[in-house]
This record gives sequence, C-alpha cells and structure tokens, in this order.
Amino acid sequence: MREQIEILIKLQNIETEIGNTKVFLNRLSEKFKTLDARRNDFDQLIAEETSRLEKLKRKYRECESEVQINLAKIKKSQEKSGSIKTNKDYQAALKEIEELKKKNSQLQDGMVEDLDRIEKSEKSLAEKKAEFLRVTRQITDEKEAIQLEADQKKESLDRFDKDWTAISKTVRPDMMKKFLMVKGKGGGIAVVPVKEAVCQGCNMNIPPQLYNELQRLDSLKFCPHCQRLIYWEKREDEE
Ligand SMILES: [Zn+2]
Repeated sequence: MREQIEILIKLQNIETEIGNTKVFLNRLSEKFKTLDARRNDFDQLIAEETSRLEKLKRKYRECESEVQINLAKIKKSQEKSGSIKTNKDYQAALKEIEELKKKNSQLQDGMVEDLDRIEKSEKSLAEKKAEFLRVTRQITDEKEAIQLEADQKKESLDRFDKDWTAISKTVRPDMMKKFLMVKGKGGGIAVVPVKEAVCQGCNMNIPPQLYNELQRLDSLKFCPHCQRLIYWEKREDEE
C-alpha cells in the first residue's frame, strides 16, 4: 500500500508539472500574439501617415496646376484687353484679371503652408520607419527567444506524458479508479499533502485521529473536507 500511495503521489506530481507547463506554454503564445499585434499596430500607423502625406502632396500638385491655369488665363485676358473697344468691357477684363491674381495669391499662401506640412510629415515618417525597423528587429529577437523556450517546454511536456504513461501502468486498477474519480471532483488535483495536520488542497485541519492514521502510510485516506486523496508530508523535525 505504501508503494501504491507513493506511485499516486508521483503521478500527481507529474500531472501538476504537466498543468504548469501547459499554463506556461499558453502564456508564451499570448506573448507571441502581443508582439505580433504591436508590430501590426506600428505598421498600420506608418500606412496611415503615408496615406496622409500622399494626400497632402496630391493637394499641393492640384493647387500648383490651378495656379498655372490661372496664369494662362491672366495672360490671355491681358492680350485680349488691348483690342477691347468699350470702357465697360475693359473694366470687366481688368476685374477678371484682378480676381484671378487674388485667387492665385490665396492658392500660393495655401501651398506654402502645405509645403511646411509635407516637410514635417516626411520627417516624422522617416523617424517612424527607422523606429519600426528597430522595433521589428527587437520583436524578431524576442520571438526567437520565446520559440526556443516553447520548444524546450514542449519537449519536457512529451517527457512528462511518457513518464505518466509508464508510471500509471504500475498503479493498481482500483487505485487508479479512485485517483481518477477524486481528480474529477477535486478540480483536476487528486492527491495533496497534509502538512502539520492541514490539508494543502483545501487548507482545512485534518482531525487528529485521521492525522495519526495518515502517518502510518498503510491505507488510502481522504480529506474529510475536499475529499481529495491525502498523504502525510513530514516536517523536518517531525518523526
Ligand atoms: Zn482537503
């Protein structure tokens, strides 16, 4: 019986290790996703800035060609004004030229402002791109490290699984049945130690008589509170 109890304890320890390893692997994959998201967000930011810059440049070019068109119109009106017969038509031509000049002056003011914006945006974009390269390199390094860690953890998980299979073969069928039953009820943990008369599964006190019996290690005992299989874990100075 003592040997069987020890086997069950070993089985439980392996299951605990398997559980911890799985939690760790999940956390690694979360970290992986977070890094990817960070890179994608940055990429998105650069794409947005690039599109803003392109829009600014397009607007600038449109203003530029409008100015050219207006200049051509002004030139044409000036040429025509020489052959105008009436004063009224002459005044009208002058007014048109004035308006075109005013329009161009407004357009050119806007273009000066746009040029300033374009310059700033180009500078900021260049900085972001440099930062993106740096961050991408850093993320690649971090991902490599995570992958390495994950591979190691997966290897140990395989090892734990093999150990579990090997050890479970040495458990008596009736003991295994109890183990699995208690595991189902105990939130996945079947076997817990009792330290100084306290069950480590539920932190409740074990009755003194049960605690005394437990120390003999000659039969399977269950915690009266959480129903898990319990075993005695002696203190350094306890005997
Ligand atoms: Zn308990």
